Amino acid sequence: MPIETANAASETEMLPKVRLDLVRKYNVPGPRYTSYPTAVQFSEATPREGLLDDARADFAHGEDLSVYVHIPFCETLCWYCACNTITTKDHNRAVAYLDALEREIALWVPFFKNRPRIGQLHFGGGTPTFLRPQEIERLGAMIRAVFDFAPDAEVSVEIDPRRLTAAHVEAFRRAGANRVSLGVQDFDAGAQHAINRVQTLEMTADALRWVREMGYGSVNFDLIYGLPGQTEESFQRTLDAVEALAPDRMAVFSYAHVPWMRPAQKIFERTGTLPSPELKLRLLKLVIERLTAAGYAYVGLDHFARPDNELAAAWRAGRLQRNFQGYSTKAGLSILGLGVTSISQTAGAFRQNEKTVDAYSQRVAAGEIPVSRGVLLSDEDKRRREIIMRIMCDRELDFAALGGRFGVDFSQRYAPELARLAPLVDDGLVLMDAGHLRVPPDGWLFLRNIAMAFDAYFVPAEGRHSRTV
Ligand code: SF4
Repeated sequence: MPIETANAASETEMLPKVRLDLVRKYNVPGPRYTSYPTAVQFSEATPREGLLDDARADFAHGEDLSVYVHIPFCETLCWYCACNTITTKDHNRAVAYLDALEREIALWVPFFKNRPRIGQLHFGGGTPTFLRPQEIERLGAMIRAVFDFAPDAEVSVEIDPRRLTAAHVEAFRRAGANRVSLGVQDFDAGAQHAINRVQTLEMTADALRWVREMGYGSVNFDLIYGLPGQTEESFQRTLDAVEALAPDRMAVFSYAHVPWMRPAQKIFERTGTLPSPELKLRLLKLVIERLTAAGYAYVGLDHFARPDNELAAAWRAGRLQRNFQGYSTKAGLSILGLGVTSISQTAGAFRQNEKTVDAYSQRVAAGEIPVSRGVLLSDEDKRRREIIMRIMCDRELDFAALGGRFGVDFSQRYAPELARLAPLVDDGLVLMDAGHLRVPPDGWLFLRNIAMAFDAYFVPAEGRHSRTV
């Protein structure tokens, strides 16, 4: 029987049922698919010239760009953190870092035929608000010296409400920022002490007041479930506080326990404070039920948005994009990553900058683009990237349309991959007929598992990826 075609508008109104038995069954290590191929495939052996030629060809088209700027510094380390950060209280390190960033921006200029234009800009970290207000102003001026901005450019910044002042918020606003993401994680004092991140409700409320007063548009809160010390009761109280503050969007991430990559997380094993897998699943269920009941649309995986927010609108219109910052609203923009560890994405390649500030600064001082590794995409990689991004963003595959684009009979060419989905079909998490695959709301938690079926490089193994749910 043919499956019903998707109706995104009505599906955002539907609530996924969280069946804990299925979550247990499919909660295996797997990539987050913020890219395909994933970062595991990036290699220092990839010919550097090939990586730069692909950028040159892509940027020469003159299309709007998505630019990512990485500020790596944090004053203290949050023990759960899996980001690329440098812990220091020496704010003067930012001055030399901005010098290096300015050099890197200048090195990219010859890659553009005309003055490049930004459609989307994201300041991430680390902690972008580690920069002092005058340094934020300088960063903004450095970018404006080279790039124009599209009239509807989305410019977002990650804000840590601890140690924040109104002057930081104002400086980023003057640098063009019009959206913010506030790191919250959890309001419970016990959980905050357990993760070495003490952030009072007042700090978050002040940050929110400042960004609202200064005319920022969409405000996102980042929360994490599965942190040490969390209980259902404590997380209920956190969600009460979050709902009262009413952010426009929320990313509620599953705590990723990857101590082989982030040794600070071993502290949680020593203190024995991590929630049991069972409790973690109950927290997830709580999050989805509470936020959808509060009127947030469940946009996918770990993202929630008010129905009138641009993220929910982009999902309804089929314009959702997935990149290294998670879900975003502007599909199809090439990404230029600036700064240490930043990743760029163009039509045929991913490339990543040097991973230490020393190596990064030395490369740019020597007049070299600081790319250290990457991957060049084969035609088959590009096809699989398209399939995986459609699953992650649209939750639907139209076999005839994809087959037409790829010049293959989709069902035949990808028969082994489709067959791998049989257990998910049997469990009602994937609907499939001869011409379509569709993920109904109950399957939205399992998008990573569904995408894994099409990942030609995926090797099931502990110790490489976080768990999918
Ligand atoms: S402030 Fe953010 S980036 Fe820095 S250590 Fe904490 S979680 Fe990680």
